[in-house]
Amino acid sequence: MKELYDAIRTIPDFPKKGIMFRDITPLIKNEILFTKTIDLFTKQVPPDITKIVAIESRGFIFGGALACKLKKGFVPIRKFGKLPCETIRHTYALEYGQDTIEIAADAFEPNEKVVLVDDVLATGGTAAAACCLIEKAGAKVKKMLFLIELKDLGGRKKINRYEIYSILNI
Ligand code: AMP
Repeated sequence: MKELYDAIRTIPDFPKKGIMFRDITPLIKNEILFTKTIDLFTKQVPPDITKIVAIESRGFIFGGALACKLKKGFVPIRKFGKLPCETIRHTYALEYGQDTIEIAADAFEPNEKVVLVDDVLATGGTAAAACCLIEKAGAKVKKMLFLIELKDLGGRKKINRYEIYSILNI
């Protein structure tokens, strides 16, 4: 894991003061480390899942590669207004204000089981909202996978009824 940890670049005060931004670009530009990340995720995916779901936008990098490796379909969760088709929406509270995410209304057939992927678990608000949205759309979240969990932010508490795997706890 050390080589994965060492490939995460921390940029202070981005995108605003006080945030320690965890930049994954040094990791994903390295073919060995990117492949290792996807291999680690692959081992965590329950056998009975039918689709990989990921959160815009860095979640797509890992979710897309993982879906392809597992020969599963991929479903994107997007920010409001980006999907051209009929959608299902979920609005959730942020520290200041609110945000809305969307998924295609026809993303799932009945009884689908999915794994949700994102790069970073921080406060857990995004992942919790994504789970609500997936459930509104009729699928079941079997597990969540993150490259990085910022453990001091306690995001796990918001999603503790789901199974969670994080490669790096920072
Ligand atoms: P949260 O809802 O607070 O768990 O935030 C998770 C989402 O915000 C993920 O999609 C991350 O890509 C992004 N994010 C939050 N905090 C950071 C951070 N410190 N560095 C990089 N991305 C972050």
